Amino acid sequence: MPSPLPLAVVGGGIGGLAAALAAARAGRTVTLVERAARFGEIGAGLQLAPNASLALDELGILAEVRRSAVTPPRLVMMDAVTGTEVTSLDLRGRAYTERFAHPYLVTHRTDLHAALLAACRAEPLVTLRTGLTVTRAEQDADRVRLSFAERDERLDADAVIAADGLHSRLRRALTGEGDPVCSRYVAYRGAIPTGRMTGRMSQAAADAAVVVWAGPAMHLVQYPVRRGELYNQVAVFRSDGYTPDSDTWGTEAELEERFATACEAVRDALPLVARDRRWPLYDRPPLGRWAYGRIALLGDAAHPMLQYLAQGACQALEDATALGRALREQADAADAFTAYAGRRTERAGRVQRGAHLFGDLCHLDGMGATMRNLALAHRSPADFDDIAWVWTPAPGTVAAPATAPATAASIGAPA
Ligand SMILES: Cc1cc2nc3c(=O)[nH]c(=O)nc-3n(C[C@H](O)[C@H](O)[C@H](O)COP(=O)(O)OP(=O)(O)OC[C@H]3O[C@@H](n4cnc5c(N)ncnc54)[C@H](O)[C@@H]3O)c2cc1C
Repeated sequence: MPSPLPLAVVGGGIGGLAAALAAARAGRTVTLVERAARFGEIGAGLQLAPNASLALDELGILAEVRRSAVTPPRLVMMDAVTGTEVTSLDLRGRAYTERFAHPYLVTHRTDLHAALLAACRAEPLVTLRTGLTVTRAEQDADRVRLSFAERDERLDADAVIAADGLHSRLRRALTGEGDPVCSRYVAYRGAIPTGRMTGRMSQAAADAAVVVWAGPAMHLVQYPVRRGELYNQVAVFRSDGYTPDSDTWGTEAELEERFATACEAVRDALPLVARDRRWPLYDRPPLGRWAYGRIALLGDAAHPMLQYLAQGACQALEDATALGRALREQADAADAFTAYAGRRTERAGRVQRGAHLFGDLCHLDGMGATMRNLALAHRSPADFDDIAWVWTPAPGTVAAPATAPATAASIGAPA
């Protein structure tokens, strides 16, 4: 019999909420603790590849997410300097639907987060608590005791899922590691009302494709979100002024300078990229162990990765469904954690390494960029061979989806 104590989830981001939902769907009582005073996500977009929409289907919230998500027709790589198309993938054609049963979606983060939060709130087995920063997790043979920064309270849990993000305190305590590795790249991002856009930009928004403008040590990503009402832009570049433990690098002036060689379409878009906050980009090398007795890592805490394959949250959703499945199979949470980690570490590590390599490919300069463009010039938009492994979860980690596989027509339909 499972313990009468709840399973605790630390962190109420996409990973933590999905984990809480998956555990509750597996019949476990869950208490989720989040350090922020209120649940929320940042105002930017998120790409959800078919492995993520499969996970959302399994969690029973795909239809809700599709209510506001956009189903882009194409994923296009453009050369940010020459302005020419390098390669593309047709995300609604027959080759896609024959290979993937679930749609490629782009969504606003707050919409996905809100759908997960609403599903958790509707789940009687889930208790959500905010304003609690976990400072300590002490485990013995049959429980974990959590302590908090804000109050002198203890929470006894059967077991703990650490979904406390990139800078996970629990991961550092369990592994003895230092800080994540800064890539010296920084991102500026945000979603603006489509109505504010004119000319080429409004045409791009209407086209609804996901466009990646790849350039030397920089790139720009664009796609519509929230039924096409908002247009998401992410400008990423390597800073030559990187200084550890400081926020004086990766400035707006450097952004302008780095993108000065870009083509007109990219330079036109740059003034509309949100500048209110900058995100330094980090990852870590893959970690072979995610389960430590009654504590297991999930999401960015387990596999922080650079965003170049747009898979961090997708992998967190895969983690959640794999966790749910393991909890259904194993009464003891520690056994379930071992099974969950055994199914997930290798694949997530491969995606972490792949993300790093894809970033290098995007950011090539001179002859390197020319060779990349030549090598990709003859790829067919129907050729998913290179990316299919990323978009397909490993066998044994997912259960049967809640809805029937999407047909070409349903994938192409507006969400
Ligand atoms: C520029 C950029 C673009 C990206 N684009 C994509 C994309 O298109 N597709 C994709 O799949 N991924 C993308 N990602 C990655 C994705 O954003 C992350 O992988 C994902 O949000 C991680 O979710 P998480 O729940 O694991 O962590 P987080 O979202 O970081 O959530 C962690 C939560 O834990 C809380 N917390 C932290 N410490 C404590 C504590 N001690 N006690 C209690 N609570 C705590 C935090 O407040 C937070 O709410 C992108 C990332 C970046 C930087």
